[in-house]
Amino acid sequence: MSESFTCIHCKKEVPTGGFIGTHNRNHCPFCLWSRHVDEKAGDRASLCNEEMEPIGLTLKKAGLDKYGKPKQGEVMIIHRCTRCQKINLNRVAGDDDAEEILTVLHSFLPDQERKALLTDGIVVLTSENESIVRTQLFGKSQAKSG
Ligand SMILES: [Zn+2]
Ligand SMILES: [Zn+2]
Repeated sequence: MSESFTCIHCKKEVPTGGFIGTHNRNHCPFCLWSRHVDEKAGDRASLCNEEMEPIGLTLKKAGLDKYGKPKQGEVMIIHRCTRCQKINLNRVAGDDDAEEILTVLHSFLPDQERKALLTDGIVVLTSENESIVRTQLFGKSQAKSG
């Protein structure tokens, strides 16, 4: 079992054991930067290995509810590779720095990039969506028992 790795970006020691709410840790909980190791989520098939920057947040597509309205999915972090520009979406982990996630939400993304992501079906959240993000980040932990 591996217990920790050193973050490619902030160089902090990142523990990989314990419960984090997701199966494989693919980004740093402190700075949220990731590393380009996956072509598809979790496959570890990429040879790129460069740093991936958290450029925004989106909601996972959760399909439609029984009334035909879009269901609200979980908050996902949009990572973009600093070398090959590959976009990956990653679930927020249980111990990710919530303030850092809000910083990503409020970070500036040029219209051009926003539109490019939209073309791929990725809707980038804006400051107007902060309440959704906050509910997911803080609501859950308050509801947790024991
Ligand atoms: Zn880091
Ligand atoms: Zn890459």
